[in-house]
Amino acid sequence: MTTKKIKKRFVAGAKCPKCQAKETIVLFKEHGIETVECIECDYREQQGDEQATTQASGDLIGVFKP
Ligand SMILES: [Zn+2]
Repeated sequence: MTTKKIKKRFVAGAKCPKCQAKETIVLFKEHGIETVECIECDYREQQGDEQATTQASGDLIGVFKP
């Protein structure tokens, strides 16, 4: 049973740097890479291993703070 479904999580309080919409940023892993994406526009950003480590410690949301 292989599930290819990607779990996407909304990032609370995150603001899209492109369209400025709030609560539209989702976080998920694509090919093992932390990826953030806006559901309102085509904004998308992928983060390297260092950032993934930061995320593991629960500080990823800080990335989106203005
Ligand atoms: Zn956006």
